[in-house]
Amino acid sequence: MKVILIAVCSLIAIATLVRSPETQVFPTSAGPVEITPLYHASTLIEAGGKTIYLDPAKPAKFTGLPKADLILITDIHGDHMDPDSIQEVSKAGTDILAAPAVIATVTSAKPIANGETKNWQGWTIEAIPAYNLKRGPAPGKFFHDKGRGNGYVLTYGGKRFYFSGDTEGIPEMRALKNIDVAFVCMNLPYTMPPEEAADAVKAFHPKIVIPYHYRGSDLTVFQKALEGTGIEVRLLDWYPK
Ligand code: ZN
Repeated sequence: MKVILIAVCSLIAIATLVRSPETQVFPTSAGPVEITPLYHASTLIEAGGKTIYLDPAKPAKFTGLPKADLILITDIHGDHMDPDSIQEVSKAGTDILAAPAVIATVTSAKPIANGETKNWQGWTIEAIPAYNLKRGPAPGKFFHDKGRGNGYVLTYGGKRFYFSGDTEGIPEMRALKNIDVAFVCMNLPYTMPPEEAADAVKAFHPKIVIPYHYRGSDLTVFQKALEGTGIEVRLLDWYPK
């Protein structure tokens, strides 16, 4: 009896294993997808026994976390593309998919450009543009040029997860369809303020939106702007001390 009880308990423990109190578990037809915020844009995604990192970068901590089966990189800036962190989470056979501009530095990565779709281990990976409409370091220049960076729509077990990358509220974001969970950036001067992010989110109306890459932004502004829209806003801590 005792043995059976222990066996049952450990089965339950495996089924409900989550990384941290911040881990979000999303049921899909192919089993749960667990998403854990690591730092700023760095994200851990786990499903079906596979581990995916999005933009693993310092100062995110990877100690005790599983090695990557897949790494997705959105852009060339240090908060998204960090060769040290990529090496730290990699093992033999780790696949890396990245915006083409990343390949010059991360030579083991395979390119996926804006508008391309790839299939990987039960996931569909769509590269969505991510760029500035008006913000840059000088007049006529942009922090993120159109065509260089990727956002991603990741589909698994019928659920669609969107990670915006570094972008403003571009038409390609506003035109997204059937997004279950959207991770949307906001931070000035590089991407957009919370009110612009909320306006873009209203246009594509995900079921759930989770601000990420939000350093210095007032998330209550974002939350307030989406009140009464039926879109659930979930606030997570992306800046653990
Ligand atoms: Zn960034």
